[in-house]
Order: sequence, then structure tokens, then C-alpha cells
Amino acid sequence: MIENQEELRRRLEESGALQQGHFALSSGLHSGYYMQCALFLRFPGNASFAGKLLADSVRVLKPDFIVSPALGGLIVGHEVARHLCVPFIFCERREGLMQLKRFPHPDSGRFVVVEDVITTGGSSLETARVILSKGKVFWAATACIVDRSDGNACLPEPLISLWNVSFPNYSPEDCPYCKQGIPLTRPGSRNS
Ligand SMILES: [Zn+2]
Repeated sequence: MIENQEELRRRLEESGALQQGHFALSSGLHSGYYMQCALFLRFPGNASFAGKLLADSVRVLKPDFIVSPALGGLIVGHEVARHLCVPFIFCERREGLMQLKRFPHPDSGRFVVVEDVITTGGSSLETARVILSKGKVFWAATACIVDRSDGNACLPEPLISLWNVSFPNYSPEDCPYCKQGIPLTRPGSRNS
């Protein structure tokens, strides 16, 4: 598992999904790290790598289907389902509410919610609640590539992740990178 974690971290860095430096986040806070999992998942080999590891972790729970919140969970959720040979469905936000728009509501079965990155767990929780609102379904687990919740996700156990990590954020006044005079990068704006 340690080897897998090192391999995951290497792939996150190589794809640009995990960057170190000095970043101004959309929250207004500064950080020495920036993560954008879509950059990792743009390479199908990475999606398959993470999907297989997560599938191996949840197989024992015998899920009948995988459900993900759009957009973040779509690619990795589909990969997990592919490795488990079970169906994949997704919920999406419409006018602020998570909904199951494109699929018949499952009337039975065990499901795992799959996300790319979990920070608060809010989207995963809403997705599970949509599925739990009808039928005799059972929420077996939540699984993600990176758990950034620092143990504070609003999710029941088990929460399975390939990497558990939290990156400290700073207000600009207290930012150690500002004090060192390291140039500030705004991720999302083109800087290359
Ligand atoms: Zn700073």
C-alpha cells in the first residue's frame, strides 16, 4: 500500500495535479500546495491505476453499483465500476440540488460513492442521500483518490482513500511563503 501511495504521488506530481510552490487559492488563502485532480485524470492510465486500487479496496463490500457526484467523481467512479464489472451512475447538481437525472432510481442493492477528492464530504453525502431516498438500498462505503478532510468529513465510516493528506492554508498576512518572498502563483490562470 505504501508503494501504491508513492506511485500515486509520483503520478499526481508528473501530471501537474499536485504542485508545490506558493499559490493564491480561490478562497483567498495562500498555500504551499495546489491540487487539481482533473490534471491527473486526463491521462486514462492514471484513471485506470487509481480506479483499480479503489476497486480492490471496496470489492470485499460487494457493491452492486457505483455512484458519483458530477463532475469530479465521473472519471474515477466509472473506472472503479469497470474494474468491479458493476454499473456506474451519477448524480448532478441542478439549481443547487443534487439529483439523479439520467438513470432510473435503483430499487435495491449495495452502493459505494466514489469521488476524486474529498474535502468536506458534502457532495458525497448529498449523492448518497439521493440514492437512499427510495428503495431498499444500502450505502456500503465512500471511496476517493485523495482525502483532504483531515478527519473532518461529514461521512459515515468507512471512508476509503488512496492518500490521506492535508495541506495547510494561510491568510496572506500570516503566509510563510509571502514572508520568504516566493513569487505567488494563481492556479487556473495561465502561467506557462
Ligand atoms: Zn503567501
